[in-house]
Amino acid sequence: MTRGIMWCVCVVAGMAFCGGAAAVEKEKTGDQSHESMIIKTPFGTDKSGREATLYSLVNKNGAVMKVTDYGCIIVTLKMPDREGTLGDIVLGYDKLADYIEETPYFGAVVGRYGNRIANGLFKLEGKTYELATNNDPGGIPCALHGGEAGYDKVIWDAEGIVADDRVGIKFHRISPDGEEGYPGNLDITMWYWLTDANELRIEYAATTDKATPLNLTHHGYFNLEGHDAGTILNHKMMIAADHITPVDKGLIPTGKLMPVENTPFDFRKATAIGKRVNEKNEQIEFGLGYDHNFVLSRWDGKLRLAARVEAPKSGRTMQVFTTEPAIQFYCGNFLDGSNIGKGDHAYEYRTGFCLETQHYPDSPNQSNFPSTILKPGETYSHVTEYRFGVE
Ligand code: BGC
Repeated sequence: MTRGIMWCVCVVAGMAFCGGAAAVEKEKTGDQSHESMIIKTPFGTDKSGREATLYSLVNKNGAVMKVTDYGCIIVTLKMPDREGTLGDIVLGYDKLADYIEETPYFGAVVGRYGNRIANGLFKLEGKTYELATNNDPGGIPCALHGGEAGYDKVIWDAEGIVADDRVGIKFHRISPDGEEGYPGNLDITMWYWLTDANELRIEYAATTDKATPLNLTHHGYFNLEGHDAGTILNHKMMIAADHITPVDKGLIPTGKLMPVENTPFDFRKATAIGKRVNEKNEQIEFGLGYDHNFVLSRWDGKLRLAARVEAPKSGRTMQVFTTEPAIQFYCGNFLDGSNIGKGDHAYEYRTGFCLETQHYPDSPNQSNFPSTILKPGETYSHVTEYRFGVE
């Protein structure tokens, strides 16, 4: 991988885009004639008064990714449809203040532990750790997505990189010992790359000075027809999983694996999300639709295909490759129109879906699940690619 070969970061204070980039956004894609670039603009301040920045990345095809150092949130991702016209395919807000006020983790990094931990408790090396119980599906409290102020709610150090075949942002942060109840100073570096092959590649690395559970993921809500295009139930989904980890009413895994065969969870062949989402099935009832951890078949820690999504109208496709053992497929069951997003669009029920590459939920309490414990001297490493195309 080439990193930092050429540096070309323009700073345009107070402007959304310099003229060149605005022109790039309007154009059709595909001629490979654009200069890749990164433009930095102010994006407001967080609760402590620290200034956030928005980085607008453009690749050689003119595809655009806008990402802020607040929560490493991908605010905008513009990819071509089958006519070559760019469309923004991620849900989000125009303003930082909206992310601060209320967000269902739109586009953010999630940590220290993505997904749920039962009762907000886990035991490690003889000690019990108590976490905030910030979620209660079915009326049963649990810890969700890193706590009250997880990694999605802090500003990270960020630095733009323009390389020969990609543009990217390197994020860094030390999550202090005891933050949100987790043990150990955790030193995290992440790279978000927008490649000239229209891939979003996320690389995560972390080390710790005390043993700690760790499960980082990206919480993008996608709608490949466009962020404001309505339902995602017509998207066709393939997930390379023979099993899910079934959950109880509180969306905590029971510890068993459930074969997907002859259930609405069988996405081994591409199937419209909406085809079986309302079927009578206990797991569907508990999740209020799809909100489940799919166990990826033949996991060996290498980057491999985990899921593929097709949007029939625009022709956009997304393949998800990951080194992680599982993927949480959530189909926006809790969206209800109350989040007023970009361009004042209200995100209604099931108008965005998430594919969160991860380890299994509640792993710190489930000894039969692949371990999520990072120890001093080890390096956490996770790579996920969202590869975009058309058909
Ligand atoms: C979870 C959902 C939760 C959502 C938060 C997803 O990762 O699976 O249960 O409601 O995050 O917006």
